[in-house]
Amino acid sequence: MAVPKRRTSKSVKRKRRTHFKLSVPGMVVCPNCGEMKLSHRVCKECGYYGSKLVLEETQEVEA
Ligand SMILES: [Zn+2]
Repeated sequence: MAVPKRRTSKSVKRKRRTHFKLSVPGMVVCPNCGEMKLSHRVCKECGYYGSKLVLEETQEVEA
């Protein structure tokens, strides 16, 4: 099995990990209610997708 000839230095390790970052999922502002929502998904605040009401209002359980 191949074994590394020398230990990876701190700076090399850190430079490699600069490419290792989290990405924010595609969030857009809902045109109907103005809340942030995932693009190409039904808005969970108002239940609209585009200009159509897709999800009817249901009784919300307030904690
Ligand atoms: Zn909305």
